[in-house]
Amino acid sequence: MILLGWNPDRGDDPFGGYRRAVDEVTGAGLFRCRWILPPRQATAGTEVWLFSQGGRDRGVLGHGRVVLSPEPQPADRDGSPGIVEFDALRPRGDSIPQDLLTLRVPGIAWGVNRSSRRIPAPAGPALRTLWAETSSLDEADPLYPPPGTLPPGALAQARVNRYERDPSARRVCLAHHGTSCAVCGFSFEEAFGPPGRDFIHVHHVVPAAGLGPGYELDPIADLVPLCPNCHSMAHRRLPDPYSPAELRTLRSAAGFLPGTTLSPEQLTAQADAVRILRAH
Ligand SMILES: [Zn+2]
Ligand SMILES: [Zn+2]
Repeated sequence: MILLGWNPDRGDDPFGGYRRAVDEVTGAGLFRCRWILPPRQATAGTEVWLFSQGGRDRGVLGHGRVVLSPEPQPADRDGSPGIVEFDALRPRGDSIPQDLLTLRVPGIAWGVNRSSRRIPAPAGPALRTLWAETSSLDEADPLYPPPGTLPPGALAQARVNRYERDPSARRVCLAHHGTSCAVCGFSFEEAFGPPGRDFIHVHHVVPAAGLGPGYELDPIADLVPLCPNCHSMAHRRLPDPYSPAELRTLRSAAGFLPGTTLSPEQLTAQADAVRILRAH
């Protein structure tokens, strides 16, 4: 694990505009850029944390991984350029502040400025916990687990989550599956009346391993309606969420009898599907 020092006050800008980089991570889930890295330590896949040495926001601002390791150049002690892919970047001013880091992630000289340095692996869980604790409400969404929680192969997670927010895919999914939760059968319209109509999350059920380069979303096979509670439970398991079938099994094992509650809601789901199909 490597800590990348960055001093925004000194005018060095590997991001080509930090705000643009933050927007790109928010929108596309990833931002790549060149970074001067220590060759022997920065092998591909190495986890990195971005540390801002700016006066205004000194602290941890982001997370990512080395995707291209630098060529070893013995004469160059500062390192040589490699490529880093950031999967989490916070706006300036929102860092995990240095005093909190000193208190909760001991054993690292947070006050010392270095361009990059290795930090011990056990600091990872502590940093993730702090990241989650200091998150804005949006980042605390269970659909966005703290950075570094997912294995490198699952970097597509942010893009997968975008399928769950794609309006046209959502429409097709709900037209087929209805708007009741596929796990517990909860219907917001039934419980809350008209304001609850069509309110339901859609969940993407394809595991990260199934998302090869040629993957195309099938809104009926790959998306299911889930209420926010069941959806949060699905994403409690990482990297691959619980499937709706597994969640139903967990529920019945915990004392909920499937069938007694599901059948009427399944009928409602059918009725909803017909209504939505007529509406579009
Ligand atoms: Zn549910
Ligand atoms: Zn989901």
